[in-house]
Amino acid sequence: MTAPPAPPRRRRLLVALPLAALALAALASTLYLRRPEEIQIPRAEAIAEQLRTVFEVHVSEVVGPASAWRSTAELEWTSTAVERVADTLGGPPEFRTTMAGPVRMARVPVPELRAFAPPMGQDVLGDIVLTDYNFDHGQNYAIYLIVHEIGHVLDWRSHKHLSQAVSAETGARRCDPENPSIGCVFDAGQAVEPPPGNPDKPYAAVSSEEYWAEVFASTVYPDYYQQNAANNPVGPQTEQTVKTRLQGMRAE
Ligand SMILES: [Zn+2]
Repeated sequence: MTAPPAPPRRRRLLVALPLAALALAALASTLYLRRPEEIQIPRAEAIAEQLRTVFEVHVSEVVGPASAWRSTAELEWTSTAVERVADTLGGPPEFRTTMAGPVRMARVPVPELRAFAPPMGQDVLGDIVLTDYNFDHGQNYAIYLIVHEIGHVLDWRSHKHLSQAVSAETGARRCDPENPSIGCVFDAGQAVEPPPGNPDKPYAAVSSEEYWAEVFASTVYPDYYQQNAANNPVGPQTEQTVKTRLQGMRAE
C-alpha cells in the first residue's frame, strides 16, 4: 500500500510481542492516553446499538473505563465501513447472511500496530482488532482497512475458500503444465488485471489471503486507492469476480 507506510522496523517488533504485553500496553494507554471528552456518549451508544441490531456487529464497550474508543468519529468510520460492505452486498440482511454470524470488533488502545483479523481459533480479542494506528491515518485509511479486515473475516469463515477461488478465477497463480500434480502457487503478477494499489509494490502480492482482502476492499471502497492517481484501481473483471463470489456465498 502506498500510504501510510508500514511502521518502522523497530516498531514492528511489537507485533511479535505476546498477548500479555499487548494487554499491558492497553492498560497503560487506558490510564494515560484516554481523552474521554471526545466521546459524545449518546451518539456513540446509538452507533454501537445500530451496528448491533442492524448488522450484528458487536463493538467493544464505547463508554466507561474499559473503552478504548477515543472519539465518536472512530465509531462513525467503523459504521461507514460496515455500511459500505452492506451496500455492496445488497443491504443489511444480505450483510448478515453473508457474514454468517455476528462480527466482534475489539477496540484496543495500541498505537503502533495495524488493525488485524486473527484467524479462527486465535480470535480471543475479537474477529477484528482495531488499534489506534488504524484511526491515526485519516478517515479513508481507517474505513478502507476495516473493510479489508472484514474481507479477512469472510475468508476465514469460508476456510480460505474465498481467497483460493478468487485468486484462481483471476489467474493470480502460476501452474506448471508439465507437472500438474504439483499444483499451483499464488502469483499476483499473473493475474488478468494488475492488483489494486501501489503498482510497484502491491500489498495484494503478499499472499492469496491479502490478495482477496485487497480486491474485496477496493471493490467495496475504491475511494482509498483513488486518492492517489499513481495507484491501480481494482480491474473491472476482478471486481466482477469478487461480486459473483459474494453472491454465491449467499446462495449456499
Ligand atoms: Zn490483511
